Amino acid sequence: MSDETCIFCKIVQKEIPSKIIFENEDNMAFLDINPISEGHAIVIPKKHYNTLEDLPDDELSKLFQVVKKIAMLLHEKLNIDGYNVVQNNFKAAGQEINHSHVHIIPRTFGDMKIRLSLPKTSATNEELDRVLSKLKS
Ligand code: AMP
Ligand code: ZN
Repeated sequence: MSDETCIFCKIVQKEIPSKIIFENEDNMAFLDINPISEGHAIVIPKKHYNTLEDLPDDELSKLFQVVKKIAMLLHEKLNIDGYNVVQNNFKAAGQEINHSHVHIIPRTFGDMKIRLSLPKTSATNEELDRVLSKLKS
């Protein structure tokens, strides 16, 4: 399962170079070419799946085992205080490469890299109930 127009499939096939951190039969982790912070890593399944929704559960499980492994590696080897694990799905959420992938973005205190100050709103009890009933119908 490969898409010849996909950059990440080309990385898997070694048709284009990448800075590979880790690779096994099913997954690959490499450095993001435009890192948000030093060590910004991308973890992918080797097979081409567009989004989270296309990933079979066993693939998802293997993918996140590698995410954990790489997150711990970054934490151990780089002088960081934490990391964000980000996974964009569909254009509206900022997904640019349609080969499902997970970002691990190293963080240090006060780095001002990504401010996850989510634009929170408030919701009434009725509004929460309305969406809950949509989800449960
Ligand atoms: P997303 O917006 O979640 O689709 O993120 C795609 C990420 O892939 C971006 O952070 C890009 O910098 C990164 N990227 C694009 N091309 C390459 C490449 N050839 N090697 C490594 N990372 C890449
Ligand atoms: Zn692909």
